[in-house]
Order: sequence, then structure tokens, then C-alpha cells
Amino acid sequence: MRIVFKFGDGLKSWTVESIKSKYRRIGVDLNILRTCYPCELVAAMNPCPCGYYGDPTHNCTCSEFSIQRYQKRISGPLLDRIDIQINVPRVDYEKLSANTVGESSASIRERVEAARERQRIRFKENPNVTCNSEMGPAEIRQYCRLDAEGEKLVKGLMTHYNISARAYHRLLKLARTIADLDASPDIRTPHMAEAIQYRPRNKG
Ligand SMILES: [Zn+2]
Repeated sequence: MRIVFKFGDGLKSWTVESIKSKYRRIGVDLNILRTCYPCELVAAMNPCPCGYYGDPTHNCTCSEFSIQRYQKRISGPLLDRIDIQINVPRVDYEKLSANTVGESSASIRERVEAARERQRIRFKENPNVTCNSEMGPAEIRQYCRLDAEGEKLVKGLMTHYNISARAYHRLLKLARTIADLDASPDIRTPHMAEAIQYRPRNKG
């Protein structure tokens, strides 16, 4: 298994093991879960050295300084390849084992395949782009228009967090995908709001 990162017009690749051992050496337990096309990397890490930062039932024993140092150890180039970041809270054993019915994997698969099909049709005239994540500025301008409310939401975010143009483009592409999963031809405010929630935070 090999993960390929795109840097500018060059390609650089590492094996999953070499990435894991690099982060193990500097004390970060990064679990590479799996890789799949078109997603280049899926990874998970603890929020802090003891693993309990943000946990409602256990106290984290780490200092603020060690938490910051731990989170900053994931390098910029690696973080730059990550489009979606989600905090995954602890799930109680009772909840896990309860017979609560969420959306089934089969129905999620159906939605994903339908969203992929929408993207295939969208880019069928374009030889360089096959899915939303590959859109360049021209495609983003064409396919990621926001309504007035969405624009307002993003403007507020950009002013408040000083996000880069690159991060802004990434948000728009993600919002386009969320809208596709929702079978919506337009990116609506809830799609943009959801994309904003998944924005990688470590970089500020
Ligand atoms: Zn901790």
C-alpha cells in the first residue's frame, strides 16, 4: 500500500509504514486506517499524548503546552493534504451495542455512487478533471457558486479566521461534494455550513 501526495506539479510518495514510523519516532500515534481512490489518505490520531483531551468522562492529564506541541507535530505538508477533519468523541459501549439503526452502509454506498455519477457527468467534457477534488480555479468558479447567504457565511469565516485562498477553494470543493451527496444541483447554505465544520483546525 502506497500513499501518493501531489506537490505542485511533482509527485512524491511514501509507504504507509514509512509515514507511521516517522510519526512514531516523534511520538505521535498516527493510525493510517486505509487508503482508497479517489481519497488519497485516511488517518486518525489521538487529540493529545494521553488520549483524553476533550473527553467528557475522563480527565486529560496533559499540559496545554504538551497538547499544542503534540498537535503541531503533524507537519504542514501532510496536513495540507487533509481536506476533512472530524473530532470523533468516545462512544459508550452500551450505545455501540444497542440496536439503534443508523443509515446502512448499503444506502450510504448508493448515495456515494450517485454523487460520483453526478461528478462524472459534470466533468465529462473535461479531460483533466474527473471528480470535485480535482477542480481547478476555473471549474470552481463555474460549479461552486454560492447563494447570498452562503457568501455571507464564508466572508465571515475568512475575516474571522484569516483563511487562505487555497483553504477557501478546498471548502468550496467540499461543499460541492456535500451538495452532490444531497442530490442538490446548487450548493446551499447548509452544505457550506457542513463543509466549514470539517475544516482542518490545527493550522488555525
Ligand atoms: Zn491528554
